[in-house]
This record gives sequence, C-alpha cells and structure tokens, in this order.
Amino acid sequence: MSTVETASIPSTRCQVHPTRTGTGVCVSCGAVVCSACTTRIRGVNHCPSCVASLSRAAAEGDRGEVRRIALAAALFFVIALEVYVTLYTLLLW
Ligand SMILES: [Zn+2]
Ligand SMILES: [Zn+2]
Repeated sequence: MSTVETASIPSTRCQVHPTRTGTGVCVSCGAVVCSACTTRIRGVNHCPSCVASLSRAAAEGDRGEVRRIALAAALFFVIALEVYVTLYTLLLW
C-alpha cells in the first residue's frame, strides 16, 4: 500500500507570485493574493483573474442590454404586423 502524498500548497503565498506572502483573499474564488495583486472593488478584495472576468462580465452585460432592446423592437414589429394583418383580414370580410 502506497500512500499518495498530497502536495502541500502554501496557502499563505500569493497565487500569482509564489515568492510573495499573500496579504488578502479574493472574495470571488478564494485565491490568496499579495498586496500588489489585490484589487479592491467596493471594499472587497479581488484577484487579477476575477477582476478580468468582472470587467468582461460588465462588457457582456452591456451587449446583453442592446440585444434585449433589439429583441423588444423585433417583438413589437411582429405584434404590429399581427395587428395589421388581423385588421386587414377584418376589413376584407
Ligand atoms: Zn479571484
Ligand atoms: Zn501577487
């Protein structure tokens, strides 16, 4: 029987800089980061990768808003067309 040794990862080290001591923990992913890597957003710490994904999510949120407006416009057009066709049919009768 051989026991698999689990490599003990020093959790007090910065995830980005293994030589630096971690001073904060990312609230999003729990990664330990040093003071240079910590970005404070609304008073809470974030690691560099989470800051990148946050800004990406914000950009995609803007795109989603545009898509929702376009969808609403398309829906309005379909309803208007439906009403027009219905009225036209009624007039023909
Ligand atoms: Zn993170
Ligand atoms: Zn660091």
